[in-house]
Amino acid sequence: MRFGALEAGGTKMVCAVGNERGEILNRISIPTETPKITMPKLLAYFQDQEIQALGIGCFGPIDLHPDSETYGYITTTSKLAWKHYDILGYFRRHLGIPLGFDTDVNGSMLGEATWGCARGLDTALYMTVGTGVGVGILAGGKLLHGMQHPEGGHILLPKREGDPYAGKCPYHKTCLEGLAAGPAIEERWGKKAAELCDQPDVWELEAYYLAYAITNYILILSPQKIILGGGVMHQEQLLPLVREKVADMLGGYMQTKELSDLASYLVPPSLGDDQGILGALKLGMDACGEII
Ligand code: ADP
Ligand code: ZN
Repeated sequence: MRFGALEAGGTKMVCAVGNERGEILNRISIPTETPKITMPKLLAYFQDQEIQALGIGCFGPIDLHPDSETYGYITTTSKLAWKHYDILGYFRRHLGIPLGFDTDVNGSMLGEATWGCARGLDTALYMTVGTGVGVGILAGGKLLHGMQHPEGGHILLPKREGDPYAGKCPYHKTCLEGLAAGPAIEERWGKKAAELCDQPDVWELEAYYLAYAITNYILILSPQKIILGGGVMHQEQLLPLVREKVADMLGGYMQTKELSDLASYLVPPSLGDDQGILGALKLGMDACGEII
């Protein structure tokens, strides 16, 4: 069978066709402009592909509550052209095939849980640190939704003593995303994050905030694995620093076999850069047979 997969991001839309073995048969990438310009291009690609279903992992926040009048909408995004846009409805009207829909980070979590390093786990967490900070959660072997979906990138953190930065989140100022996403790094230090690789203070502080959040996720969710992706994590010195600080912050309080080996516990994505698109593929597979 052939399934469509869409990884809908704020910068680009990755469209692919794959099969139930997680093999990508072809793919294209389209820049994210306005819905008017971008959506017909996505549709044209998928209409040609003889797919049985389409899975969409979408930047958010999105409305994931099936009983809601705005189910399938992108809601309060800062990408203004996409605010309150009915992305799922567009495909429903034009494609007439089963559709799976979730956040981009839940999609990446699902990709890793299906074909990657979180396979067979009951509880795991996927975190991306890029333009924003996003968190996808697997709990009881399923993606966690609750009211809508977790917003673990916006958890509130106390600022570290002596940190003068005011924070960048328009909603919370100094939440995790406001303190530690790529644009916050750039504004705080006056240079793009990638150009700061030789400044140890930058990564020490970044690791502090990431570790603070991750320690709280560990204490609340007891995940069996945590996967850290996104552009900022391309800084190779960052993940070892985060592991060190998580160990310090946990203070030896939780004693598990997973935490005794942090190098296997706090890990980069295992599927190259395909965890998101493969997760979307699995969302499509799971939707197959469901009524739309
Ligand atoms: P997005 O979050 O938009 O999907 P990315 O995950 O690539 O995309 O994140 C983009 C952010 O990551 C930008 O803020 C950029 O400055 C930062 N970034 C990209 N590459 C690097 C790098 N090598 N080192 C540090 N930061 C990086
Ligand atoms: Zn916030």
